Amino acid sequence: MSKDSVQDGVVVSMEYTLHVDGELLDSSEGHGPLQFLAGYGNIIPGLESEMMGMKVGEGKDVVVAPADGYGEYDEEAFLDVPRGQFPKDMKMEEGLELTVRDNAGQARYARVESIEGETVRLNFNHPLAGDELHFNVKVVGLREPTDEELSHGHVHEGGHHH
Ligand code: ZN
Repeated sequence: MSKDSVQDGVVVSMEYTLHVDGELLDSSEGHGPLQFLAGYGNIIPGLESEMMGMKVGEGKDVVVAPADGYGEYDEEAFLDVPRGQFPKDMKMEEGLELTVRDNAGQARYARVESIEGETVRLNFNHPLAGDELHFNVKVVGLREPTDEELSHGHVHEGGHHH
């Protein structure tokens, strides 16, 4: 099996920039190329699918629609929670980001949308929900994953360890 292009089961190193509404939001500059294991959902699906088949040295502009990025903005994804349900020592303020467990015990991202008296309104939309993502990516390296990386489904070098 040749590993000279981006395909499932290959560790990809890429340089990238991310613009939303013409504003630079994220970039590999300064912290080096991002590594990810292709085909394991390590990066957003709309970007990964466009990168399949790219070779080292190849660059590309990729526009990702909200549905293939961080989702459409969901006007229903709000929840009012009494202030008393949060730890007393938690400094509650608008914009605060937190992780809450839903009824199924699943961890979900949320941020505080507003605070009205004793009611805290949580917004479960990802900060980039509803946004069109403009990536410029360049593949700078391809390699085989280690057995451990393959069994975990993610990269250990240049990623996280656990
Ligand atoms: Zn791991």
